[in-house]
Amino acid sequence: MSLDKVNKFIEDELDRFLQQLSRLVRQPSVAATGEGVKECAELLVEIMKENGIPARTLPVEGGPPVVYGELRTQSGSTPLGREPPTLIFYDHYDVQPPDPLDEWESPPFEPQIRDDKIYGRGTSDNKGNIISRIHAVQAFLSAIGDIPVNVKFFVEGEEEIGSPHLPPFINKHKSLFKANCGIWEFGGVDHEGRPNIWLGLKGMLYVELWARGAATDTHSARAPIIPNAAWRLVWALNTLKNQDERVLIEGFYDDVLEPTKKELELIEKIHYPEEIVKKDLGLKSFLKNLTGPELVKTLLLEPTCTICGIQSGYTGEGSKTVLPSTAMAKVDFRLVANQRPKDILEKLRNHLDKHGFNDIEIIARSFLEPAKTPVEDDFVQLVIRAAEEVYQKEAIVYPTSAGSGPLYLFRNVLGIPMVSVGVGYPLSKAHAPNEHIRIKDYVLGTKLIARIMSDLGK
Ligand SMILES: [Zn+2]
Repeated sequence: MSLDKVNKFIEDELDRFLQQLSRLVRQPSVAATGEGVKECAELLVEIMKENGIPARTLPVEGGPPVVYGELRTQSGSTPLGREPPTLIFYDHYDVQPPDPLDEWESPPFEPQIRDDKIYGRGTSDNKGNIISRIHAVQAFLSAIGDIPVNVKFFVEGEEEIGSPHLPPFINKHKSLFKANCGIWEFGGVDHEGRPNIWLGLKGMLYVELWARGAATDTHSARAPIIPNAAWRLVWALNTLKNQDERVLIEGFYDDVLEPTKKELELIEKIHYPEEIVKKDLGLKSFLKNLTGPELVKTLLLEPTCTICGIQSGYTGEGSKTVLPSTAMAKVDFRLVANQRPKDILEKLRNHLDKHGFNDIEIIARSFLEPAKTPVEDDFVQLVIRAAEEVYQKEAIVYPTSAGSGPLYLFRNVLGIPMVSVGVGYPLSKAHAPNEHIRIKDYVLGTKLIARIMSDLGK
């Protein structure tokens, strides 16, 4: 059978593709600082071309280029006489900053293989997945001489900073990125080696809240008569959420969709590694003593309001009796279907005004809509079957992830059913020192992509 030949290529050529992954990881591409981002885009185009995938960079206004590749199957139709479907891969070639550097056992941009794992910044998030997908396509080309479906590669360079320039870019190129189905950037296996399939992402509204008092910081002896920006900010923040974790902004929960019966069934099967996470974080319990399916349901389906940082006055060594003139908090709202970030921003403004805080300035930093593909979708079902075949284990399906990303541009704007699978595992340490993937997960993840392509072509 032809898929056997493809799988054999994936195994036989493993070292060559791990070298290509090393080449890609060795090129820093830190979106937060811009370091090496452009060079990485060019390198990726080169690697894709070397593997028979016509690729080029597309300029993005205000941001680094998107790497775009497209390859059509030579057979004009599937065996059943239908127009062959197009599968789009969404990935990102940018990575998180490597700090703190002294916690890496080998330097972040000098990839190293140890104990059947490959280490380096971006191996898991998301360069391992990029190479795995190229590897799967190349396996068909080499083993069979053709691919079973049309494929498109969309690889952006700003995912780790919230893809700020992507919305107008996608809107401008809608027809170029048309596809019947798509694979999102991340995924892998859980602690029990079961393949995890993710169907959605939360949205995000990220804001800064600014309180301003006097024109400059001043002597705190004047506190009885001068307004204190830090207190203003604390009082305003205090109105946003109560101690039961309920967000108090009027109308915040209005558009939240109730989970379907099917989604609740899927959640029952998810084993969250509670003990490992508690130990890792030095916690005795989770919020509200949550555990089991209730914990998973809350993690995946609850929208949140999180103070990410607060800055005001003097926080250095010793004491300084000062009355701060400004105070700023960074706050993120993780949003679930069908909340909309612009609407939540409006509701936040109304809420602050209504509570007497019309002096608090809001600066909105990023907007991402939540998005998900229903589990009943044919493509989702195909991926579940393929994963269970390849991994020989039950697939665990997450109706959505607790994380956020620009999924809505593909799912909601382009209308493509999107599913996230990949080559990671729970200890891959994405975003942290010693990021890595296990080579066995890379092989299985690559075979899964090949299987999905093969099943789609039938
Ligand atoms: Zn990331």
